[in-house]
Amino acid sequence: MQVHPISSDELADAVLTIDLAAIAANWQKLQHLAAPAECAAVVKADAYGLGAAAVAPVLEQAGCRTFYVAQLEEGIALRKLLPRAAIAVFDGPIRGAEPAFAEHGLVPVLNSLEQIGRWSAFARKGRARPAVLHLDTGLNRLGIPEAELEALAAEPARLAGFDVRAVISHLACADEPEHPMNAQQLACFERLRRRLPACRAGLAASSGIFLGAPFHLDEVRPGAALYGQPPVASEPNPMAQVVALHAQILQVHGVDTPRTVGYGASHTVRRPSLIATVGVGYADGYFRALSNNSVAFIGNHPAPLVGRVSMDLITLDVSDVPAERVHPGAWVELVGPHRPIERIARDAGTIGYEILTNLCPNKRFRRRYLGADAGGRAPGS
Ligand SMILES: *Cc1c(COP(=O)(O)O)cnc(C)c1O
Repeated sequence: MQVHPISSDELADAVLTIDLAAIAANWQKLQHLAAPAECAAVVKADAYGLGAAAVAPVLEQAGCRTFYVAQLEEGIALRKLLPRAAIAVFDGPIRGAEPAFAEHGLVPVLNSLEQIGRWSAFARKGRARPAVLHLDTGLNRLGIPEAELEALAAEPARLAGFDVRAVISHLACADEPEHPMNAQQLACFERLRRRLPACRAGLAASSGIFLGAPFHLDEVRPGAALYGQPPVASEPNPMAQVVALHAQILQVHGVDTPRTVGYGASHTVRRPSLIATVGVGYADGYFRALSNNSVAFIGNHPAPLVGRVSMDLITLDVSDVPAERVHPGAWVELVGPHRPIERIARDAGTIGYEILTNLCPNKRFRRRYLGADAGGRAPGS
């Protein structure tokens, strides 16, 4: 991604940059890879923390027509932004939510005979209502288990009153291309969906798209790859980077041996050192697991994170950074081209999805969106 310089008159401690043009380019890339299948977009959890209100219209403008969220409330909020798009809700209708789905034109993903029964009873009262059926093919999380599918195949009247728009399933190990479960789940999905009336089929999320054409079927539904996450763990990331986080140095300390830095005195300086304090901490979703275990950058100069991450602050060893770049108000890259989300995730012992959804929604960051069509503008530009 192109990270624009941040002007020094910026008043926020930290600025989160989200490149909407990169999100649009990522969607187009995935649509191109998956064609002739349709590329939908998963914007659950507020578009993985990046802000569905900004992200979803950009995806629609790029050509996306079908959106998935996890929860009813997310669907209702998205409907206000996208009056025409198809919006499906993974969790399906919890008891009593059926009228809200109809009122907001949302398509429930039905995950069990119990949900199918309620949706059918509701739909038979009014006009034909759309739904998506989710078949479990081995994840054992959400989805109609094979035993329930048999009951459904034996009694097609259970699907009466509604219109099955698509049948989907979800892969457990798609980010490991060699994993035998991928082919097993594809075969299972093909076998199970033949027992239902023919309709559109979808199996692949971000990583599944990279397993090749047999996994594309009629519709793919990426989330993470749209937001820049690498779909195949063992390969270079083909997606454009979307997120950067910059923060200002608040204070610089000269620390001599044998002094320590931060809570728990977990870092002891080995030489006379310069320590820069930056106003981002675990309350901002900057994981405490990064304590003594990540690197920030000032320009191209690495500044190791030393000491513990505290609630509002981190401390960086800037001894090797040119002195003119180390002063209160100087900007530090915590996430960006030198340290992408997936690298921070590795430092913290987690996955990029968890970093995105914890770090990015933070209210204390000033958020700026890049991308001409989105009206984004770099502060001070
Ligand atoms: C979250 C989710 C997706 C998107 O997965 P990514 O790995 O982010 O692409 C697709 N399908 C289902 C059922 C999901 O829960």
